Amino acid sequence: ISLYEAKKSGKGCFVFWQRSFLKDSTPERMRIESELRDAIDGNQLLMHYQPKIDAETGQVTGLEALVRWNHPRHGLIYPDSFISIAEESNIILELDRWVINAVAYQQKIWKEMGLPLMTVSVNISASHITRMELVTIFEELFQRYPFLPHCIDVELTETAIMANPDRATEVLNCLLALGVKASVDDFGSGYTSLGYLKKLNANTLKIDRSFIDGITADDYDRDVARAIIALATSMSMDVVAEGVETMEQWDLLRSFGCQYLQGYYFSRPKSAAEIAEIYLGADPL
Ligand code: C2E
Ligand code: CA
Ligand code: CA
Ligand code: CA
Repeated sequence: ISLYEAKKSGKGCFVFWQRSFLKDSTPERMRIESELRDAIDGNQLLMHYQPKIDAETGQVTGLEALVRWNHPRHGLIYPDSFISIAEESNIILELDRWVINAVAYQQKIWKEMGLPLMTVSVNISASHITRMELVTIFEELFQRYPFLPHCIDVELTETAIMANPDRATEVLNCLLALGVKASVDDFGSGYTSLGYLKKLNANTLKIDRSFIDGITADDYDRDVARAIIALATSMSMDVVAEGVETMEQWDLLRSFGCQYLQGYYFSRPKSAAEIAEIYLGADPL
């Protein structure tokens, strides 16, 4: 089996790389790490964007930036295959930095094209959310792009936050002070202390896709999704359901009061050029 081959496991969760094999096989691992470094330096990474939809109107209200690796031999590789390897080495810090800059640059291009500015959500790795360097990255960026702070949302996973909640809260508060928004990603899949959730001051909860998958067939998943929406509402937070693939899921989520939706039913992640043309009203190329 090729290391780059994807394998889909039971509950909508992707497992790539033969992890046990990788752990033992240091040369193989080092090769991938070095390829990944080359990818960052050599412009092999690119961003795709997936729309966030207003559940009432069906209109696009924002975008989530998702990284891809255009590998010279293996073609397009999805992040589940390389983020964890990057996380286990310091490469993730470079990768996150690259992504943040790429998104900012894209926003600048769209602005210069006279297109409407939409908030873009950027995924921040677990290793980064306890580091003040992250704040510095954004500070420097906003000096170059003063229009940017209000068009950036950082997505931090619940698990990453709860691994070191005090530190994560500290970093996040600095980011919020710069004017960015923040979302708790994959919410419901980990354990959150509600006390921390309140202290965190994040703007949005994103319901983990595993619950949305089962929402029309499984009572438990439906109850969890409904409870998260109620929790978010009671804390005056926005709530996004990710992985919406059917109209039935849309209807149900709307009836529960979920404001925002994301998923293949509306759009797969697309290139910047496609996003500009389809959703931002740019002239066809
Ligand atoms: P995530 O942040 O939970 O992102 C959502 C993933 O679900 C994306 O996969 C997206 O393409 C996929 N998705 C969206 N709608 C649907 C749907 O309706 N059905 C199904 N089955 N899937 C859907 P993707 O792009 O492969 O990203 C996977 C994960 O990799 C992300 O999960 C995130 O944790 C990480 N990631 C992606 N981009 C970045 C990045 O730029 N930086 C960092 N640090 N991590 C990233
Ligand atoms: Ca995300
Ligand atoms: Ca997510
Ligand atoms: Ca995820």
